Amino acid sequence: MRSDPATILHDLFGFEAFRGVQERVVTRVMDGLGTLAIMPTGAGKSLCYQLPAVALPGCCVVISPLIALMHDQLRSARALGIRAASLTSVDADWRETQDRLIAGELDLLYVAPERASSDAFRALLERSRICLFAIDEAHCVSEWGHDFRPDYRLLRPLLDAFPLVPRLALTATADAHTRADILTQLGLPNEGLIVSGFDRPNIRYAVKPRDGMGRQLAEILATNPGPGIIYVQTRALAEKLAESLGGKGRPVLPYHAGLDPAVRAGNQAAFLASEDMVMVATVAFGMGIDKPDVRFVAHAGLPKSIEGYYQESGRAGRDGDPAVATLLWGPEDFVRARQRIGEVEAARQAGERTRIAALGALVETGGCRRAVLLRHFGESPPDQCGNCDNCLAPPACVDATQTAQKLLSAVYRTGQSYGLGHIEAVLTGKSDDRIVARGHDALSVFGIVAGDETALVKPVARALMVRDALDTNAHGGLALGPAARQFLRGEETVSLVLPPARTRRGKRSNAE
Ligand code: ADP
Ligand code: ZN
Repeated sequence: MRSDPATILHDLFGFEAFRGVQERVVTRVMDGLGTLAIMPTGAGKSLCYQLPAVALPGCCVVISPLIALMHDQLRSARALGIRAASLTSVDADWRETQDRLIAGELDLLYVAPERASSDAFRALLERSRICLFAIDEAHCVSEWGHDFRPDYRLLRPLLDAFPLVPRLALTATADAHTRADILTQLGLPNEGLIVSGFDRPNIRYAVKPRDGMGRQLAEILATNPGPGIIYVQTRALAEKLAESLGGKGRPVLPYHAGLDPAVRAGNQAAFLASEDMVMVATVAFGMGIDKPDVRFVAHAGLPKSIEGYYQESGRAGRDGDPAVATLLWGPEDFVRARQRIGEVEAARQAGERTRIAALGALVETGGCRRAVLLRHFGESPPDQCGNCDNCLAPPACVDATQTAQKLLSAVYRTGQSYGLGHIEAVLTGKSDDRIVARGHDALSVFGIVAGDETALVKPVARALMVRDALDTNAHGGLALGPAARQFLRGEETVSLVLPPARTRRGKRSNAE
């Protein structure tokens, strides 16, 4: 052993103290115990294996899914003077790396899972001294995770072939189900689970229905100086928004995987150097980027999961200064997300459904957003955080169960093919040619919604879509969803959250 952990932490890494759970993780690893560390992005996961890699005799093998990420880590490890190398398809120095490994001249070896699971790699390790297996982005091993990679399943035989070498699995993103799965899949003991605190108290969370997205985003830009990221779902939207939001005084650039690599790298470098730039990006942006002074992260649409949202919004305020995370969503985001469930393998569909429901709980709650996020990660936060939209301006809640039932009946009685505009007209008794021609003015649901209740129809439709009681087809036609029956029977209720400002604005407020 070269030195004790505290000395290495100070002398090599230049840190005064361990942060959060780092010390517990490092101690377990140094004791040779299997460990699963769940630490949010930015919490300092790399140190948890880099430090033991230096302290223990032999090389630490790091399994990591992305070459770009690996090379970032490699650079920073080497900058510290750690003897590190990688074996990937883009590395030219394979021979040299293998020789160094066998000669005991490496502290860290980065490798992708498909390589790690090969026979040749196992044979190489058998001729070398290995002190630790670090499995980065360990959620990839679970079908419950949001990013399952079959290659990760092939790692187990390699790990088992070296029973004396401890294993450390690391991830930022895992709900309770995924955690249990990672422990099982990688053969880690239950008591090896170490979860770090997930709260990011300096981030102010806000969640709003989309209601004129361009205007909403322009408002965010106008009220939040400092670097910011806007996450969008498609490359085309990244381009379009960068174009339309630029020219309002702030530099705005797009970032997505479809850009020319040189342009992409240029945009990223410009963002890293800038103090007021806004990047309109797909989720391709942010991995491995450490810009501490991002002041806001906005989502133009629903993220893939709570984990994804936490990770993406978590790129704001790494420096600890106040930052804002705003999520704009529309009911069609949920409809589309559900449609995509059909495209994944059967074994993963239950996980997808759970993820969408969890997002539904986040956008629908009239309570604390932070509490929803932290509970998702298994924490027991206070009911109020004082730093999210709902804590700062508690919304009005109305019981809209009856309106929901009226809406669902109207959809059913009109034959489940008309859009919301038509259904709303039927419910509020607005007769027009189409309604008369179809005989919809003779239905029992015609004109059963009046007065203040009128303003509830659109938000109720939104809530029913989130909860899978209402579907839309490609042409915007509404149909009953699988959960509709529970609402019609009164087994499920709808409590609508109406932000104070929106209720006051009356009818217009409900325009999508
Ligand atoms: P993660 O992989 O969990 O996202 P990193 O390993 O990239 O996080 O670390 C995030 C940042 O925190 C890095 O800039 C790193 O240098 C810094 N860091 C890690 N551990 C400590 C520590 N004990 N004290 C201070 N800074 C630390
Ligand atoms: Zn709150």
